[in-house]
Amino acid sequence: MQLVVRLLLGMLLAATSGAASAQAGSCNCADARDLFTRHCAARAAIQEWDRLSRHFRTSERGKGAVFGATEVKDELAQCVDERISMVRQEGPGSRVSRGETDRECNVSVQAPNKCMEGVIRHHESFHKMMCEAHNRPDAPWRQTNNPFSYLAGMVNRLATQSAIDYIAEERTAYQMEVDYTRSRLEELAGQCNEPTVFRPTQQGRGFTLQPCPSADPANYQRRCTIK
Ligand SMILES: [Zn+2]
Repeated sequence: MQLVVRLLLGMLLAATSGAASAQAGSCNCADARDLFTRHCAARAAIQEWDRLSRHFRTSERGKGAVFGATEVKDELAQCVDERISMVRQEGPGSRVSRGETDRECNVSVQAPNKCMEGVIRHHESFHKMMCEAHNRPDAPWRQTNNPFSYLAGMVNRLATQSAIDYIAEERTAYQMEVDYTRSRLEELAGQCNEPTVFRPTQQGRGFTLQPCPSADPANYQRRCTIK
């Protein structure tokens, strides 16, 4: 088990540095709003993942059993997507990008340009790494005597994850996205006249980011049923 953790950490570091350097410099001032919105949305998503994680930890104690990722995935996505769309509504206008990592660990990206593609690829690089670890012949989930569990794990990686595992994976991917977008915005700060994103400061550093738009979930009609 310890070996697996160390292996994953090594792969994570390799994925992080590789993706960051490959995309550096491909963003310009026209991307500042998209980067900023994505940065703030990812931070809001992390808060929501943390809230959901607390909820499931409490529920699991009450139930005395673990929730499977497949049971709750759609509900979790609903809650997080709502938080992200609140930030989008409150923030400066921005374009939508999205990505997916399929069963064979292939990443597909929908993005308006190379800069945003870099953001999405960086997020998906973590899912890709987890997917490749899952597909390894020595992956821990394969050590089962139950043919149904084995088949389920072959067909769908989520079948081998608990709700908490799933939340932790997404949280990590969003944290990588926060760091990546922050770095790209730091590179642009001082070059771009974009007052909705950059705020001039008097002392020390020349520029700083505007605070993220705050959206109070209480003011929104939520379909997320996890309270
Ligand atoms: Zn993700």
